[in-house]
Amino acid sequence: MKNTLLPIHSVFLFLITIVGFPISLAAAFWGEPPDANHPWAVHDANRPQPPRVEPAPTPGGPPSDAVVLFDGTVDSLENWRHVKPDDKRKGDWVLKDGALECVPGSGYIASVAEFGDCQLHIEWLAPVDIKGYGQGRGNSGVFLMGMVEVQVLDSYNNPTYADGTAGAVYGVMPPAANALRGPGEWQSYDIIFRRPIIRDGVVIDEGSLTVFVNGVVVQDCTALEGGGGWKKRKPLNRVFPEKGSLELQDHGNPVRFRNIWYRPLRPRPEEGGTDGRLSVEATLAKRAEIAAEIRKDSTEESGIAKAMLLLESLTYEFNEAAFAQADELIQDYLGSFAIAQPEQIREQKESILALDNALQYLSSYKLIPPDYPAVTEVETIALKQGWKKKR
Ligand code: MG
Repeated sequence: MKNTLLPIHSVFLFLITIVGFPISLAAAFWGEPPDANHPWAVHDANRPQPPRVEPAPTPGGPPSDAVVLFDGTVDSLENWRHVKPDDKRKGDWVLKDGALECVPGSGYIASVAEFGDCQLHIEWLAPVDIKGYGQGRGNSGVFLMGMVEVQVLDSYNNPTYADGTAGAVYGVMPPAANALRGPGEWQSYDIIFRRPIIRDGVVIDEGSLTVFVNGVVVQDCTALEGGGGWKKRKPLNRVFPEKGSLELQDHGNPVRFRNIWYRPLRPRPEEGGTDGRLSVEATLAKRAEIAAEIRKDSTEESGIAKAMLLLESLTYEFNEAAFAQADELIQDYLGSFAIAQPEQIREQKESILALDNALQYLSSYKLIPPDYPAVTEVETIALKQGWKKKR
């Protein structure tokens, strides 16, 4: 059912009286219509609503639509696998005090789930027993798709090269700030990851990382540049698959992790997304569905109220028959003015202004033929009556 209940819509509700019968002109004409980059008119109340997501009771907790990768339970270990085969590693990562701890020599672990663009939350704790310095102190890493590292390092009072400190996109970009908490305190990372999109060797979108360390933004849409590495840059056109595992690094330090969850992000236009929630095809289908509903509603009306609904349907989908039917009703309506008394015309003020608003909208945005004569005819009546000023 099309939306006629939102407050904004009431602007377009006109109760008028024609020969003693009240008629509702509940047609809506929103802001600028869709264009190549915007699938919906500005303020269109029929645009699908965003889905409800229940936030976690406490900050950092997984919201209702999150995929939880690790919640401190034995069961959630099932969400992870060791990257190295059993005979090539010394031990397994272990569950300790509700945290997942790296055992040096056990290699990286990877999420069983594979995903691309995401919002990721992860918390980590450097060994409380502080050992080593620089890259050797509390080093691990969060590897998005197993390909780009957001550095995990005990960078509290521990200088090292800037593009390898905690919150760095390793080898690409240092964090904008060092926001680490002190020894023995858990750190949180919130990451927004957009993978690069490369087609036929052409970089469509180089991808980006936004990172908050303990709530402080340290990477702000940092371009991935192929993802960095130790002493080396990766090629800009390095192809990323659509999905990959999240990997956690074994860098020889018993770093712990907890509370790991992600939410897939909505597709970008380059991936067939439009308004972020519907594909191009689904958006066109939804718009056609809304137009059909409005045309159906119009069958419950008559006269100019029916014409208004038919005109409204044209804002969602042009339909020759609907336009022809509206035209016929508008011609009948305007024809009745030829024999109307001045006060009968004055009684039509709101109706005429509503019709004028609709026709001006449709013609200015080229949603009806530009030479449609009723546009001028209706405006002339409004101008003559002094209901509207010439622009
Ligand atoms: Mg690392």
